[in-house]
Amino acid sequence: MNQAVETLKTLMQVYGPSGHEEQIAGVIEEMVRPYVDEVYRDALGSVIAVKRCGGKKVMLAGHMDQIGYIVTHIDENGFLRVANVGGVTPQWELFHAVRFENGVRGIVGFETKHEDYRTLKTDHLFIDIGAESYEEARSMVNVGDMCIFEAPVIETEKRLTGPYLDDRIGCAMIIEALKKLENCKYDVYAAFTVQEEVGCRGGHTTAFGIEPDIGVACDITPSPDTPETTKICSVKVGCGPAIKVKDGHLIAHPVVRRWMEDSAEAANIPVQNEVLAFGGTDAGDIALSRAGVKAGTLSIATRFGHSVAETVSIRDYEQCIDLLVSMLQRDYE
Ligand SMILES: [Zn+2]
Repeated sequence: MNQAVETLKTLMQVYGPSGHEEQIAGVIEEMVRPYVDEVYRDALGSVIAVKRCGGKKVMLAGHMDQIGYIVTHIDENGFLRVANVGGVTPQWELFHAVRFENGVRGIVGFETKHEDYRTLKTDHLFIDIGAESYEEARSMVNVGDMCIFEAPVIETEKRLTGPYLDDRIGCAMIIEALKKLENCKYDVYAAFTVQEEVGCRGGHTTAFGIEPDIGVACDITPSPDTPETTKICSVKVGCGPAIKVKDGHLIAHPVVRRWMEDSAEAANIPVQNEVLAFGGTDAGDIALSRAGVKAGTLSIATRFGHSVAETVSIRDYEQCIDLLVSMLQRDYE
């Protein structure tokens, strides 16, 4: 059994949409506690795990929150109407299952009068939770409740597929790196952040509180390496950890990139450069914290991002863990 994969599979199935990360925060705290000196939460709910080995402060960030839907309205027949939490594409969610914090489950349906899928909007969707009236639905959920998508996690020889690799894989990488870490050269602040999917809010507050010397976000990046796909990014699944050069919110600091490259070389890990035309991660907010922080992102190439079948290479994931360990054993300048 691959322990790193088991950790990731566990994290992928815990409830935690943006702003409601309580359950996943509890699971991560318990997982990480044996490997660090201190664990605390900030006011917004981000978990910060500190391992003190002396030296400069390195902040690692993985976001705990998930995309999903929030109930805006319950109709007279007991169907729920919803709005997005984060970047959800309506066409991709049709007929998928959802789960609320209290365990209520439903299926995403749509108004079939909209025959053109291309123009389908979230307004045209509803969630069927099996209620037969407003009153029955109201006894199960309330306006303002959030649901996440439920789908199987599938492990094959080379790949792992499922919902919420974004960004439970970043959280898992950090936890697994802390487990393996020996001869660390830094005070490591591992931040498991809230509300990234709605604007990197936990990254913003944790960076301010930690005041790091250098910061690295661990997150997924789209991998347009499938047939007839627009090349919005340059990375490929299976070609090793990706070192972000630029996205919509960040130009990675050259010191961080060099630190990653040198650490990869020392550990004999193949890496690829990533340039993404849009989007962003917590690193963008870490970089702009206080008077500025040297920041970068360790990305993992991911197919079908923000769908229920996000797909990564297991070897890429293991190499990301090893790269983090190698970085923490090496001076960044
Ligand atoms: Zn993410």
